[in-house]
Amino acid sequence: MKSVPDRLQALKKNIQEYEQCFDRPKKSVKLLAVSKKQSIDSIKLAYESGQRAFGENYLQEAIGKIYHFKEKDISWHFIGKIQSNKTLAIAENFDWVHTIEREKIAFRLNEHRAKMKKVLNVLIQVNISGEDSKSGVSLEALPQMVARVKTFRWLRLRGVMGMPAQYDSFKLQRESFMPLIEAINSYHPEFDSLSIGTSQDYKAAIAVGSTMVRIGEGLFGPRPS
Ligand SMILES: *Cc1c(COP(=O)(O)O)cnc(C)c1O
Repeated sequence: MKSVPDRLQALKKNIQEYEQCFDRPKKSVKLLAVSKKQSIDSIKLAYESGQRAFGENYLQEAIGKIYHFKEKDISWHFIGKIQSNKTLAIAENFDWVHTIEREKIAFRLNEHRAKMKKVLNVLIQVNISGEDSKSGVSLEALPQMVARVKTFRWLRLRGVMGMPAQYDSFKLQRESFMPLIEAINSYHPEFDSLSIGTSQDYKAAIAVGSTMVRIGEGLFGPRPS
């Protein structure tokens, strides 16, 4: 079985290769290690191999891990669904939030970060495929949400996050990202961050312009259920 350090090296190599292959600037794609349900030991292995950005979905679980690694220079990204009574703990523990989909959540995160006097990096989550089961604002509602989030002084809107339906082929994966890419290119060229691509489809995501691929099982192996 492959180890976390081996997989990390292989992923980095692939990312570099895809950057080159799709005419992306060198180092324009960051790897976010999605460590939900993974152990402290796995995170430690990735950290010791040079990984510094980790994504978590479940607040309680994440807080324990963040506390464990509090002396380390790690940037923590919240990528899970946000309940409004959890915004204080999210504001206090995370450096980035990828899953802004309601104005009320943005409002609360902003209030908490104002007290801390520390800007929070945020992304608006877009429901690219329009599936009812998926979180995120629709592409139609995106401009209005962008306008609202930009009014919050302690939130720095960096771009968008998306998680389309899963497809097996590169071609279909690529196509599934395109509506989001077209909307961003047309209306929000100022964004510097595009969080798309997981273990299954990060090659297609890099092809269309991802700046942050969120990889869990491809780095840590299967998640314990
Ligand atoms: C779990 C998760 C990922 C990582 O998925 P893998 O298939 O393990 O790479 C990425 N993004 C979000 C929002 C997730 O919940």
